[in-house]
Amino acid sequence: MTKNLTFFDWHPCPLPSKGAYYDGAIPDTLQVRPLLWKDERRFEAMPDDKFIASLISTMVKDEIDFNELLTGDRITILLKIREISFGPEYQFPTACPSCAQRFHTSVDLSNLRMLFYSEADGQEPWDLVLPRTERELKIRLPRAKDDEAVLDRRREELKSGGDVDLADVEMLKRYVLEIKGMDEKTKNLFLEEGLLSMEYATIIKFVNDKMPAPVLRSEVFCPSCKYEFETGIPLGVDFFRYVPAKGA
Ligand SMILES: [Zn+2]
Repeated sequence: MTKNLTFFDWHPCPLPSKGAYYDGAIPDTLQVRPLLWKDERRFEAMPDDKFIASLISTMVKDEIDFNELLTGDRITILLKIREISFGPEYQFPTACPSCAQRFHTSVDLSNLRMLFYSEADGQEPWDLVLPRTERELKIRLPRAKDDEAVLDRRREELKSGGDVDLADVEMLKRYVLEIKGMDEKTKNLFLEEGLLSMEYATIIKFVNDKMPAPVLRSEVFCPSCKYEFETGIPLGVDFFRYVPAKGA
């Protein structure tokens, strides 16, 4: 198999989870390889939402269950693949919030701040008491399998002309495992129809605080008015398209 040939190097990719949520099934560091032209030819025919899953399973050497990867580990792998394929500098468009000037800025992907797992984070599932209704929840972290299930659901809805804007609520139903005093069906209906806006924010913050992940934020300096601001780093469709700079 081509996986055994050595036309390219494997690079270590330390996972922010340190493997702590995988019961030994996924190690703390994976081996990844750069994107090849061969992959690009294969991926070209693929719908965008299947692309990321295929990319990861093809570029990681370790035999692991990719569905179990935490969202934060998965993003880390994507960033590492981008870095070893195209170099650490990633350019993206942004707009200055002060003077509205649009320009390109860049970030060094090899130098992003990383929120690593620490023992103080404890283990899944966690108990969370909502601040106003005092409902008691059991929560785990979102994984690749959740993303995939939500995408599949979205595809079905698209076909039948239903609600395609269901990603967030479907995701929530999956990683909120239980609400005390409710059966599964009631829990899901509650999350969809009865959850307070502020308590949704509480859950999202809780999960974000627990999720080991790279911090996708960048300091930007406006070339026009010199205003300094912080912006999110977008991982859009262009993330895996390499456009050589003029003259390079
Ligand atoms: Zn500006």
